[in-house]
Amino acid sequence: MPKSTLFNLDSHTPDWQKQLSDAITDPLELLKLLRLSPEDFPACEQASKPFALKLPRSYINKIEPGNPDDPLLKQVMASAAELEISPTYTQDPVGDMKAMPVPGLLHKYQGRVLLITTGACAIHCRYCFRRHFPYSENHSSKQQWKDTLGYIQQHSDINEVILSGGDPLVLSNNKLEQLIEGLSAIPHVNTLRIHSRIPVILPARITDSLASILTKSRLKTVVVIHANHPAEITELEQHALQNLHQAGILLLNQSVLLKGVNDCSVILSGLSHKLFACNTLPYYLHILDKVQGAQHFEVPRQKAIQLMKELRHKLPGYLVPELVEEKAAEKSKLPVYGL
Ligand code: SF4
Repeated sequence: MPKSTLFNLDSHTPDWQKQLSDAITDPLELLKLLRLSPEDFPACEQASKPFALKLPRSYINKIEPGNPDDPLLKQVMASAAELEISPTYTQDPVGDMKAMPVPGLLHKYQGRVLLITTGACAIHCRYCFRRHFPYSENHSSKQQWKDTLGYIQQHSDINEVILSGGDPLVLSNNKLEQLIEGLSAIPHVNTLRIHSRIPVILPARITDSLASILTKSRLKTVVVIHANHPAEITELEQHALQNLHQAGILLLNQSVLLKGVNDCSVILSGLSHKLFACNTLPYYLHILDKVQGAQHFEVPRQKAIQLMKELRHKLPGYLVPELVEEKAAEKSKLPVYGL
């Protein structure tokens, strides 16, 4: 079946902020646009109450109309399975709340800290490990930057700062510029890392002025994008990644291994090839974090290990991501080996 042409972004692309404010948040509207029935997704409205549905309209162009099993739709559509309670799935699966010396700053690993710069994202991924994160009290807002920068200043072993969220690229250019200026004024900080799903979700955000802001300081810049499936990368996203690459930014990708989305070595190797064509290297393939509401995405561990074996056969080593999991209180991500 042909992909939807409900929105033609080539002929009339609104600016990224307008696209954000025009995002779809009503599950029934999404189903209607995709010619699907509410019977395909029972309790979708109820499931979207604790964690709202959200996706930019441009993402719909990548979803196959009429297919309730579309792998991109599965990532964003609220479903009844989210309402089930599993005792091993918790609200803070990776121990964020115990690793926050100042609000919005996570210090888990040696030499680097992560800033929760905002609670906002361009899309709501149903498997998100921060879907229950109390952003309103715990993000590094502009008013708190003094404390955030003060903490980094006092810890001379911190050489890398990761901007995360939420999605840091929903911040305005002005705020990003000020934050990066503040970080680059700290002599022991050398690397700025941005964790963002925006290059593959809202490519219109990747403007020349953004690329300039990310690269004009003395800091080495790394952007770690988050794509899970090759169908998420079309010409628009390729162009956005090309812009970041041409600006001199190192591009890496992290994916989450998700049942019914990308638990197949053909899909994962296709993703690696597509990323490489956009100058982006596969970095991590994450075992699902056990966050409440996402248990239906879990891929059995043995299957994950078997997939990695198949990927190593299909791909050159530099295109094979590392299979990892995150555990609360561990001093690094943990590689998952086997077979
Ligand atoms: S973009 Fe990232 S932070 Fe936002 S909902 Fe998706 S996984 Fe979570």
